[in-house]
Amino acid sequence: MIKMNNISKSYILNDDETPLYVLKDINLNIEEKEFTAIMGPSGSGKSTLINIISFLDRAFEGEYYFSDEDVKEFKDNDLSTMRNRNVGFVFQSFNLIETDTIYENVELPLLYRGATHRCAKPIVLEQLDKVGLLSKKDQLPSQLSGGQKQRVAIARALANKPKFIVADEPTGALDSKTSDEIMTLFQELNNLHDVTILMVTHDPEAARYCKRVVEVKDGQVIG
Ligand code: ATP
Ligand code: MG
Repeated sequence: MIKMNNISKSYILNDDETPLYVLKDINLNIEEKEFTAIMGPSGSGKSTLINIISFLDRAFEGEYYFSDEDVKEFKDNDLSTMRNRNVGFVFQSFNLIETDTIYENVELPLLYRGATHRCAKPIVLEQLDKVGLLSKKDQLPSQLSGGQKQRVAIARALANKPKFIVADEPTGALDSKTSDEIMTLFQELNNLHDVTILMVTHDPEAARYCKRVVEVKDGQVIG
């Protein structure tokens, strides 16, 4: 599904300075149904890499084919459409809308895609059921624990049936027990529902749940 050949990314910090390469010749393939952890030290380029993978950044060198489509060829509009259709995002800080109920948070991406409330309803309920939070649907995020908030964020990420989930440090704000619960949920989604998951983590305990670990160091994949 994801095929990257010799991907490099640089920033020019000063006009007359040589570009600073933060990704160097990355070759990475990710197939459907994989559950992959990207690990590496702070500043090694993990977020830069997943921003490219999730169509947030097209200013890179090299080739990126997504389901055999050349990402370089997309116009800005196409890129945001690709993102909305194919990627579900999960963040360290959950990024829920505090004034909306749990139900409304999960419904939002569906409405954004043009669904009616009525058409969205069974999908929202299905996703909330998957993450075990149906009983909380009318509550506000502030009434939930951190782990529960992350479950809502995962349900929201699943709402549009994306091709893959990208999670940047999804357990970074959670204690180890809650982190285990979230990783168990990801594992279940991957095993039972064939959800393709790509996550960045610093935590070796969290990475144990993944089927594959990609190690990044100084902008290069080293394992
Ligand atoms: P962390 O684990 O701390 O989140 P990371 O592996 O995700 O780190 P990135 O955020 O991908 O690291 O950053 C990789 C390198 O790129 C860093 O050295 C960072 O300073 C540099 N960088 C990121 N964004 C920019 C930018 N807009 N301009 C210049 N340099 C940048
Ligand atoms: Mg990062």
